[in-house]
Amino acid sequence: MNKLVYSFSEGKAAMKDLLGGKGANLAEMANIGLPVPLGFTISTKACNMYYEKGQEIWSELLDEIFEKLSELEKKINKKFGDKDNPLLVSVRSGAKFSMPGMMDTILNLGLNEETVKAIHKNTGNERFAYDSYRRFIQMFSDVVMSIDKYKFDNIFESIKENRKANYDTDLDADALKEVVSRFKTLYKNEIKSDFPEDPKEQLILAVKAVFRSWNNERANIYRRINNIPDNLGTAVNVQSMVFGNMGDDSGTGVAFTRNPATGERKLYGEFLINAQGEDVVAGIRTPQSIEKLNEVMPEIYKQFVQVADLLENHYKDMQDIEFTIEKGKLYILQTRNGKRTAFSAIRVAVELVQEEKITKEEALMRIEPSQLDQLLHPTFDSNALKRAMPIAKGLPASPGAATGRIYFTAEAAVEASKNGEKVILVRQETSPEDIEGMLEARGILTARGGMTSHAAVVARGMGKCCVAGCESIKVYEEEKKFIVNGKIYNESDYISIDGSTGNVYEGIIDRHEPELSGHFGQLMEWADEIRRLRVRTNADSPKDAIQAVKFGAEGIGLCRTEHMFFDEARIPAVREMIIAEDINQRKAALEKILPMQREDFVGIYEAMGDRPVTIRLLDPPLHEFLPHNGEDIMNLSREMKINYDKLKSRVEELKEFNPMLGHRGCRLAITYPEIAEMQTRAIIEAAIQVKKDKGIDVKPEIMIPLVGEVKELTFIKNIVVKLADKLISESGIELKYMYGTMIEVPRATLVADEIAVDAEFFSFGTNDLTQMTYGFSRDDAGKFIKEYIDKKIFEIDPFQAIDRKGVGKLMKMAVELGRKERPNIKLGICGEHGGEPTSIEFCHEIGLDYVSCSPYRVPIARLAAAQAAVKEK
Ligand code: ADP
Ligand code: MG
Ligand code: MG
Repeated sequence: MNKLVYSFSEGKAAMKDLLGGKGANLAEMANIGLPVPLGFTISTKACNMYYEKGQEIWSELLDEIFEKLSELEKKINKKFGDKDNPLLVSVRSGAKFSMPGMMDTILNLGLNEETVKAIHKNTGNERFAYDSYRRFIQMFSDVVMSIDKYKFDNIFESIKENRKANYDTDLDADALKEVVSRFKTLYKNEIKSDFPEDPKEQLILAVKAVFRSWNNERANIYRRINNIPDNLGTAVNVQSMVFGNMGDDSGTGVAFTRNPATGERKLYGEFLINAQGEDVVAGIRTPQSIEKLNEVMPEIYKQFVQVADLLENHYKDMQDIEFTIEKGKLYILQTRNGKRTAFSAIRVAVELVQEEKITKEEALMRIEPSQLDQLLHPTFDSNALKRAMPIAKGLPASPGAATGRIYFTAEAAVEASKNGEKVILVRQETSPEDIEGMLEARGILTARGGMTSHAAVVARGMGKCCVAGCESIKVYEEEKKFIVNGKIYNESDYISIDGSTGNVYEGIIDRHEPELSGHFGQLMEWADEIRRLRVRTNADSPKDAIQAVKFGAEGIGLCRTEHMFFDEARIPAVREMIIAEDINQRKAALEKILPMQREDFVGIYEAMGDRPVTIRLLDPPLHEFLPHNGEDIMNLSREMKINYDKLKSRVEELKEFNPMLGHRGCRLAITYPEIAEMQTRAIIEAAIQVKKDKGIDVKPEIMIPLVGEVKELTFIKNIVVKLADKLISESGIELKYMYGTMIEVPRATLVADEIAVDAEFFSFGTNDLTQMTYGFSRDDAGKFIKEYIDKKIFEIDPFQAIDRKGVGKLMKMAVELGRKERPNIKLGICGEHGGEPTSIEFCHEIGLDYVSCSPYRVPIARLAAAQAAVKEK
């Protein structure tokens, strides 16, 4: 039978696909004997069928839902809509992957004018009955009917004001009855019909709303950012209510079994007395920290600690737990693997290994490689910090250090960031609508909200620095300013925020480079034990090279020489070389470049020690080095003291219709062998010098770009190798170097065996290879690839992750052909893909020797390589 609805007793944690994460874990917890209110889950399959049926609920599903409902009624001996003993439920969404704040929950469903009275009578607590009712009306109207929440908030606030109530808990039953009646009037004005009284109708409308919420904009954005497929659907959990708002012996809270920001092994959470559901996260009143529960309700605290330990041991991971206390009895309402910063993730994983709960391999698999990015960025310089005066202090909600200009709306933040500005988003508090702005910002500062507020949770998920609940700043979003200590900070002023301390500073504070030590260092050691792929870096300067070595780079996979040519001090000589009229003039100009280029290599060799350094000969078309408009040409002609017309005609001459496919790469060295000669000389002479002076066993690898035909490679080889060997033998020093090529033209992959005759190594240039395989111009494709992704033609941009089917097939063929001809050929990748985890996995699978990526991605690549090795086992 096509079963669509499951009671908690029928589910388990492994059924997340069908029951969603929340439903599967509720079932699991119920079945291991934890105090979970009873309920059932309408499966994700039902959600997908709902969409297939054109967003309608069909009768078989209704029958199944009502059957489970009556089972539930029997088990807890209450009846939905009953005038004497009514059952109230929550309707909670829950997809396979938790999407905090993205989908909507309704509490206290089943209340109407009749049942509210029964609740009052049965509990003897009228205040509680109407508090529950007003909450239900507001949530239902917001989630199901899309009536703006603030309209309810306004009514609520004005009644609070009239009655001189500071907090919601100061309102008595009378006041809450007024709230209910005014909420209902608002509902009627907005919807033009009465608030639904029939609990079954309420339930079905709520279920539909949860299904619909799978496709709301927030959910779509969240899925896009987190790479969650759109076709999973959400489950709906219908669960009998327990009440944290029954008085001072009741309450609700959330807690992590370890600290989600630092990983420290200590309960971390907040609770509120006499409150319900989202009150803690929504910042209605300021919650108390979980340790305080030990003072207020020591017995409950003890039980909770036991449950927390049990859940952590059961799931073998840090848990994020929601609980409610109803009249001195503890209920568990949710558990999931807690979202955490990379910093915390690493500490938790490493300590779980040390506590012998998981293996090293499991620990390595726990960390999302791209998450490491968070740890690989600068922190504030401690000396600069000593001199800086904090202007305010909030909660250290998500660690990191950020400096930037302040913006007060998500839109303004996105706009400024697109203009290349570093942005700090400053908000009263954030909401799901702010996601894109948060994504673009370097850091987030909010005036309200606790450690589990929206801003804090989302920022930690994004690995973004965040200071939350900074109450001393007064934010005026519309006037684009905030005030603290009487001083005004306007849009685009600089501030700095420290997400590890909660401090906020005026102006810019120096930051310094991160290090791999402590738990992070330990994890990286384990990664190195397990991985087979070597990890190199792309670096064009000694500074980058030094940073990369600190991050564990085992060599340079790509040193681009053109970046050195663009240097301000050198470009005159480079231009002279380009506009030279004959070979002698060109050689004279190259003579000037030689010592500078040699110096570059000396610095890089010294930074890299005895690690291999792959240097690519000049690659870009020469016109890139010349000015293009009349005025710039005029200036240059004056500077260089050459005739304007002559210069202009040289610029014209070099102009190409399609420079990407034009005179570049090895084609330059074929036309101007003297350029290759100069570069070879610089590479080899620098190596000889460093070996002589410093005794370092340098290992240069000379790499020829854009080869498609072996004779191109042979032609250049005859120049490079002849000169290199001559220089080495004259020096009287022993120096080993390699000669090889990039594989980036599709033809090269087809004839890789021929090419391997003259190449000791291949390095896949997957940027160009992707460009030429798809026929997509790298410089222009950005625009339409976005369209491709929106229209689901591509799942992911092939310039970001290797297209395994097409480009990958070519790579595989080149690997096989290359190895057949030259079994010990060295194989690597130096395209952008070399730092992208799924592409790294592919490189592992096809048996490359190394990947090369930018310095800041080296630790990411080390971890991704280790994960590829673990997966293979
Ligand atoms: P989210 O996925 O946004 O956390 P939840 O479905 O977990 O949404 O519910 C929101 C809040 O309502 C949580 O604080 C939860 O503990 C509370 N809640 C949900 N169901 C019940 C219930 N049956 N009884 C009491 N509180 C509940
Ligand atoms: Mg929840
Ligand atoms: Mg290239």
